[in-house]
Amino acid sequence: MRLTVVGSGDAFGSGGRFNTCFLLETAKGTLLVDCGATALVALKAHGIDPDRIDGIVLSHLHGDHFGGLPFLLLDAQFLAGRQRPLLIAGPPGTRQRLDQLLDVFFPRSTANKWRFSWKVMEIEIGQPTDVLGHTVLTTTVQHFSGAPSTAIRLSDGQKTFAYSGDSEWVEALVDVASGADLFIIECYGYSGQLTGHVTWDVLKPRLRDLRARRIMLTHMNPTMLARTDEAKAAGTLVAEDGLVVDV
Ligand SMILES: [Zn+2]
Repeated sequence: MRLTVVGSGDAFGSGGRFNTCFLLETAKGTLLVDCGATALVALKAHGIDPDRIDGIVLSHLHGDHFGGLPFLLLDAQFLAGRQRPLLIAGPPGTRQRLDQLLDVFFPRSTANKWRFSWKVMEIEIGQPTDVLGHTVLTTTVQHFSGAPSTAIRLSDGQKTFAYSGDSEWVEALVDVASGADLFIIECYGYSGQLTGHVTWDVLKPRLRDLRARRIMLTHMNPTMLARTDEAKAAGTLVAEDGLVVDV
C-alpha cells in the first residue's frame, strides 16, 4: 500500500496547502480518502491522473473534505472522457449532500446523462464494509458536519491504513489506530483545547496510547504548522502535500 498526500491543509489553505485528500494505491486498487474542494487542482498539480481512481472514501461531509467531488465528476464527464466506473463511499447522508452540492455548484448537473457510471454507497458506522475489495470500518467521532463524522480503518488484506477524519480527541481513536500500519490524525491546533479538533497539547500525552506502527499529523493551522519540529521530535510524521509513503 502506498500513500500520496495530495492535500494536507485545513479548510483555510494554511501554509498554502491543499484541502484534505489522500491517494492510496493498494493491493486492490486506487482510492482517494477524502476529496476536499481543491482536490482536482491538487491531483493535476501533482501529475496524478484522476482516471486512475477506482473509488473515493469520505470521512465526513465538510467542504474541505468532500467539496471537490463536483469538479472531479464534471472533469471526468466533460474533459477527461472517463469510461471507468467510480464508487463514492461515505457516511450516512452522503447521497443527499452530494446531490445538494452538485446542484448548488452546477445547476442541472444531477440530471446529467453521465458517460461513466458512478454510484454512492453509504457506509454503515461500526459495520465492516467491503469497498472495492477493501475492508472499511468507520467509527463516529466528535466533529459537527450535519451528518455523522467518522474515522476510518481501511485494509487491503495486507496493510491497514487508519485516519481520524476531523475530530476533537475521543477515546475511540485509540481503537481506530490500534495495529494500523499508518494512522493519520488531524492536529489542527498547537495549544489548549478546541471544539471539534485535536491540538498538540491534547495529542502529545496520548501518543503513547496510539498503537499504530507510524503516526502522521495533518490538517494543521498556522500555530501548529509553526511547531511541526516538536511533533517530529516526538516521533510522528508530518504530512506535506506531495509526500509519498510506503504504508
Ligand atoms: Zn471538518
